[in-house]
Amino acid sequence: MLSGLPWLDTSLLGLLGLLIGSFLNVVVYRLPKMLEQQWARDAADMAGNTLPETAPFNLVVPRSRCPHCGHAITWYENIPVLSYLFLRGQCASCKAGISPRYPLVELALAGLFAYCGSRYGVNSTGLAWCAFSAVLLALALIDWDTTLLPDDLTLPLTWMGLIAAALQWIPLNLPDALWGAVAGYMSLWLVYWGFKLVTGKEGMGYGDFKLFAALGAWFGWQTLIPIILLASCIGAVVGIALKINAKLREGGYIPFGPFLAGAGFCALFFDPQTLRQAVGL
Ligand SMILES: [Zn+2]
Repeated sequence: MLSGLPWLDTSLLGLLGLLIGSFLNVVVYRLPKMLEQQWARDAADMAGNTLPETAPFNLVVPRSRCPHCGHAITWYENIPVLSYLFLRGQCASCKAGISPRYPLVELALAGLFAYCGSRYGVNSTGLAWCAFSAVLLALALIDWDTTLLPDDLTLPLTWMGLIAAALQWIPLNLPDALWGAVAGYMSLWLVYWGFKLVTGKEGMGYGDFKLFAALGAWFGWQTLIPIILLASCIGAVVGIALKINAKLREGGYIPFGPFLAGAGFCALFFDPQTLRQAVGL
């Protein structure tokens, strides 16, 4: 407990969630672009070319701009949720619509942080689950947008789970967390190669193995089967819904990461034991 007052703990973490949610929007938008720039530079290097110098582009610079008119967003247009309401969801300069996803992501992370705060308090356990929630939400959104699950997020998420288990910030033995990470990676790796040998197609990406490994590190090897079953069910329901509404993207590919992440959030809300019982394990 930070304050000794549970409601204050919950509110403080909720507020922190709003602020980090605002940063998460930047990460989700910029990290895939940063990776693409890096790959283009690497490819040019290998081909013996050099690309022309470009202005720095990372999580800090340049300042956020309206994608329609280039209007630089001021600090008071950048207050989580409030600015969106104040601007009525429009750019202050050109009145182009701002996606409601920005305030929704901020509210979602605020809700997740408040949940962790009310359940665990403001301590190492509560903060560990807050960090887990933020990285997992970013991964789900990036994969949904771009079908990428960047190593820059999946690998730290795995390490964080192992460290949280080693320090007993989460109620998991280090061996269970370690074998969770190993079995998570290996199981999907085997499915991937089996599917590829039989059909000649790639059913998922390496990012999915790493995300599943991260969930194994946070919930233990015992929870991997409930997580994968749950992710497949959510994925099937969403896939059918998209198909009925003819909203499938070209090639009919749906990334699996958002559903793995959804199952990860279920494991956070309902406890791994409850999930295991729900699928009869
Ligand atoms: Zn604008």
